[in-house]
Amino acid sequence: MHQQDPTLSQLSLFAATEGMDASVVKVAELSRHEDAEKLQLLFERLSHSAFRSRFHLNGKDKLYIQNKGWETVRIHAAEFVARRLAPAIIPNDGKQTPMRHVHPVFIAQHATGCCCRGCFEKWHHLPKGRALSVEEQAYAVSVLMAWLHKEMDG
Ligand SMILES: [Zn+2]
Repeated sequence: MHQQDPTLSQLSLFAATEGMDASVVKVAELSRHEDAEKLQLLFERLSHSAFRSRFHLNGKDKLYIQNKGWETVRIHAAEFVARRLAPAIIPNDGKQTPMRHVHPVFIAQHATGCCCRGCFEKWHHLPKGRALSVEEQAYAVSVLMAWLHKEMDG
């Protein structure tokens, strides 16, 4: 079911085709290399939160991922993180991520505490009030992708 992750050159080509920001591609690329043990510890912590644990993909979300493929979903996650989570000042912080099933990445954001800077600070210990670095954005994307893979496999 999973597509193979394409190489960087394929990803860059894809980005160019889509008219995408190079920094988003960089975030997506870096997000492949998060420490598996660190992610496992995070998911262990999240599993103790009744609120976080109640978020799951529905059939529509799963079909969307199957149709779009993992690479596109990774790029979407990088874009959402760059635009909606990374800025130092987010006027509607705490309300920027829909809880409805608009996009599977939004559900992943709620499930993993990557929905707003308040939750991101609480769960991931990266302070709000400043922009997230490329590496920190990549970390968030890796968390989102790992959660999505768990949901699809589970
Ligand atoms: Zn939040």
